[in-house]
Amino acid sequence: MQEILIATKNKGKVAEFEAIFKDKGMTVSSLLDYPEVPEIEENGETFSENATIKAEAIAQRFKKPVLADDSGLMIDALDGRPGIFSARYAGLEKNDQKNNEKVLLELTGVPEEKRTARFHCAIAFARPNEETIVFEGQCEGYILQAPQGDGGFGYDPIFYLPNYQKSMAELTKEEKNKISHRAKALARLVCEWPKLFT
Ligand code: IMP
Repeated sequence: MQEILIATKNKGKVAEFEAIFKDKGMTVSSLLDYPEVPEIEENGETFSENATIKAEAIAQRFKKPVLADDSGLMIDALDGRPGIFSARYAGLEKNDQKNNEKVLLELTGVPEEKRTARFHCAIAFARPNEETIVFEGQCEGYILQAPQGDGGFGYDPIFYLPNYQKSMAELTKEEKNKISHRAKALARLVCEWPKLFT
């Protein structure tokens, strides 16, 4: 049976990956099974580079196929910020509420039509001694004037989806998992999966 290691300690992400791979005859493990593995420093300049750095470092260490993802929010009026700094935009300590407050403050006075933004996700698939492949997905929306809804995480309460007339934090888990940046990157990975393991 093929084995794949997911390079994350985030339970939500592990569950998403497990759901996808369990019907593909794959055994899934994650860094939750290896708490001794330290955080990998993400010093790339793009989501794709950071996902690749994580996946390759873990593939090298465990000598097995590894998937790693990196994601964040890009706001046009802020020249693409917070981008790869999304998790700790308001400071070293990770704090979703402070991150949202900082974004809203920086967008003070920016009119609705100029508050366009997108979530981006890069998923890297690394194998020892083989070239790494990256799959990416985006989800387009607008930044609200104030948070709305209490589902999801991160920037979900300030991210508005015109097609749903709701914030990302007002969607059900099932709705979000159909349209999210991560779902789209994962769908691309799944499409290519048969080719990757033959
Ligand atoms: P990472 O991919 O776990 O490093 O996520 C980076 C940061 O991007 C998170 O801490 C969130 O602030 C933001 N982010 C990534 N994906 C989402 C999402 O689906 N909703 C809201 N915020 C997100």
